[in-house]
Amino acid sequence: GTELFLPERPNSRGFDLTHAPTLAAINAARNPFRDHSWQAAPLIAGQAAPEDETPVTNPATGQRVGTVATTSTADIETALAQAAPWTAAAADRTAILNATADLYEENFGEIFALLSREAGKSLLDGVAELREAVDFLRYYAANIPDAPPAGTFTCISPWNFPLAIFTGQIAAALATGNAVLAKPAEQTPLIAHLAVTLLHRAGVPKDALQLLPGGGAVGAALTSDARVNGVAFTGSTATALRIRAAMADNLVPGSPLIAETGGLNAMIVDSTALPEQAVQSIVESAFQSAGQRCSALRCLYLQDDVAEDVLTMLKGAMDALTLGDPWNLATDSGPVIDQQALDGIKSHVDRARVNGRVLKELRAPAGGTFVGPTLISINGIGDLEREIFGPILHVARFKARDLDRIIGDINATGYGLTFGLHTRIDDRVQHVTEAIHAGNIYVNRNQIGAIVGSQPFGGEGLSGTGPKAGGPNYMPRFCAPDRQSSSD
Ligand code: GLU
Repeated sequence: GTELFLPERPNSRGFDLTHAPTLAAINAARNPFRDHSWQAAPLIAGQAAPEDETPVTNPATGQRVGTVATTSTADIETALAQAAPWTAAAADRTAILNATADLYEENFGEIFALLSREAGKSLLDGVAELREAVDFLRYYAANIPDAPPAGTFTCISPWNFPLAIFTGQIAAALATGNAVLAKPAEQTPLIAHLAVTLLHRAGVPKDALQLLPGGGAVGAALTSDARVNGVAFTGSTATALRIRAAMADNLVPGSPLIAETGGLNAMIVDSTALPEQAVQSIVESAFQSAGQRCSALRCLYLQDDVAEDVLTMLKGAMDALTLGDPWNLATDSGPVIDQQALDGIKSHVDRARVNGRVLKELRAPAGGTFVGPTLISINGIGDLEREIFGPILHVARFKARDLDRIIGDINATGYGLTFGLHTRIDDRVQHVTEAIHAGNIYVNRNQIGAIVGSQPFGGEGLSGTGPKAGGPNYMPRFCAPDRQSSSD
């Protein structure tokens, strides 16, 4: 039978952006950070001798937001030697993680400023991200399993959720009593530095949580040392495979790898769907966060007899999107993270343009690394060779009799992260949701923004190892292997 899974405590209330006094309070709290310059550096237990500082830039403007000092080889060694599991009683760990959640909520002004200026996030995305980070802290704090820690955990997190995923991995590893070596994405070290500072201020010991900013070399060192007992990683499938190989060669056999990776996420809209609801869900799923979510919609299947009408409405909805600097409250969609991301997305769109496949393309604002939301026509999901991590939506048409074939095509990609279905036929909901292989399936709504505690998030196949983050099976995997639960 289905087990209902209820969080131990309510989720964060977040901020109501339709409430004018709330908006005014947000502006007052983040304005002091409008031109602030942050400095990030390794936070290790011992004398740090980091490498030279490099600039961190705002993807919307190209301006400097601060600097980061990369972790040196000597500092990696010190951190590995000093790492000490968090031996405080579970009740104390719970209290300290809850106190961290309160500190995050109190520091919303600086956090929203950083999410905008370092990560290019709109205020709507910033509010959702702070909520999710706070929810992870409180959820894991409330559900600590009665089992010993694995030991030392390396946590490697992505730039697209530089606070929420960074915090979620760390909170689960710390709640279970591990020592944590945290390596944030190269693009977003400043918010990671703030997060670790707040965790330390709340009472997490400095040898239980160390921050090691840097690139692939730091990550490689932290996933190939026998003193590491487990790795939590969110990022590309290719990097996850490299980490798995490095762990197999160097770590004690059986050391857990918890990987959340990419997706080639589809949505099916049939001719009974409510078009307004479908179009809103499509726009949010494909273009919110500039499409930079692993949950984002990449391939939309429209039933042929409604396809023209839905496309007309979708193009109109795209025209209503405001693109620009995410600091501005009116902005719906900000920049992509950096020039390399921009170049990769552009070359994909250029190829589609040459082939006469671009159905609609919004003009990108000048200045930063912006991509205009774009619709590209394809025959089916099998045409997509890779995940395009930006505001690019591919559209295919189908006939009702081909439904099972396209379900087969979607499953055949090997990914299985999110999937969306819009229909008013109950039997079809039953049939399609049973047949699709995906971790998170959403019906008659958007397919992004899983809620901690009620919608555990994670994929299968090429999309990740499981267990799902924000669900009951996550923390046992951070415990000593012989005490782990046997299933996800
Ligand atoms: N959990 C996020 C969502 O449901 C996506 C996480 C990611 O992009 O890595 O939208």
